[in-house]
Amino acid sequence: MDRLVCYDCGETSPAGEAARCACGEPLWFDTDGTEFSWPDASDGDGGVRLGRDFLWRYESVLPASPPGGLAAAAGGTPLFRAPSVEPADGPRIHLKVEGTNPTGSFKDRGTAVGIGRLDGPVGTVSHGNMALSVAAHAAALDREAVILVAEDTPDSRLAMIAQHDPHLFRVRGEYGRLYEDTLEHDLGVAFLNSDAPLRVAGQKTVAYEICEAFAPDAPDAIVLPVSSGGQASGVWKALRELDAAGLLPAVPRIYLAQAARCDPIARAFRRGDARVEPVEGEPTAAVSINNADPPSGTRALAAVRATDGAVVSVSEEAMLAETERLAADAGVSVEPSCAVATAAVRKLAAAGEFGPEDDVAAILTGSGYKYGPSEADGSTVREVDRADVPDAVREIVS
Ligand SMILES: *Cc1c(COP(=O)(O)O)cnc(C)c1O
Ligand SMILES: [Zn+2]
Repeated sequence: MDRLVCYDCGETSPAGEAARCACGEPLWFDTDGTEFSWPDASDGDGGVRLGRDFLWRYESVLPASPPGGLAAAAGGTPLFRAPSVEPADGPRIHLKVEGTNPTGSFKDRGTAVGIGRLDGPVGTVSHGNMALSVAAHAAALDREAVILVAEDTPDSRLAMIAQHDPHLFRVRGEYGRLYEDTLEHDLGVAFLNSDAPLRVAGQKTVAYEICEAFAPDAPDAIVLPVSSGGQASGVWKALRELDAAGLLPAVPRIYLAQAARCDPIARAFRRGDARVEPVEGEPTAAVSINNADPPSGTRALAAVRATDGAVVSVSEEAMLAETERLAADAGVSVEPSCAVATAAVRKLAAAGEFGPEDDVAAILTGSGYKYGPSEADGSTVREVDRADVPDAVREIVS
């Protein structure tokens, strides 16, 4: 596992040298998964080894070893069917709740694997979930972390990241270019950016977990929100490996969801293009997937085409309604960025792409508790005097 390979042209390169192929496409680890079989939970010490059996359950196909600390807690997230959010005559929806990761998003998977392999200072270009994840994992191992945030990052977000005591830089100038800058300059800091090969390797474990939960069967489809295309690449990598290992009766289709206000991958899909081009995005409530020029966009598009899936744009209204539905009907609080996944399932079911016999796993990528709804829904809040509490409650439950 010391080699990277290009999904597109097949060129290889030693791990640690470049994150991109000469052809311009991103590289990923050249893992040979053909020998992989589902680990036996009762193997070895006679039971689940708590804290080692989350994503490290798949250590044989990961380019890292568990480094201890918080990285032991990444992955192993719940997957459950949620009939209350299934559309009539639609598919069975299984929610993969990534908000239960230690810092509240799937980013911990990539960070855990990255920090398990790398020595010395780590960094990232992010002001959101990735920044929080890298700062926390570095703190757990007493490593230095360099976090580059955009100038307009709200103070509340900065404070959340700052509690882990990283080196935080608020950067003036074109933030979008920083990703490339960190690839070009050797700063003595290993940058775990959105689609870095180590991150993609860690993030593939979400699809290993989903498929293992269905084994020896498999879900018909996996639906996820997409921004840089890093996680979508990881899911595709996992399905390729599991298919090569003979563990999938049929390869699940990959469906990607974007906010209509910033949907470069969906546009390329609709046009039938082979490459994703940058767009002029508009502001959207889907802040974690607002990426007008996704570095792994073309690879994500290839994943969709190879598995016979689709890329769906979700309107702002549908996304916000879905965020409320997931919280009120399934009890799962998510960011609007995640709600595009089940909103896309709804859209695809209405278009006849899924039927009642289909099992669809929707990845809810991050918790809604961190950034929170901005105000409480008025219908659920009542002002009441202490003496009136018994009557007020009886009125509701009777
Ligand atoms: C980062 C993030 C995404 C997008 O993942 P990519 O790998 O960049 O495509 C989706 N949802 C949430 C909550 C995120 O934090
Ligand atoms: Zn290439």
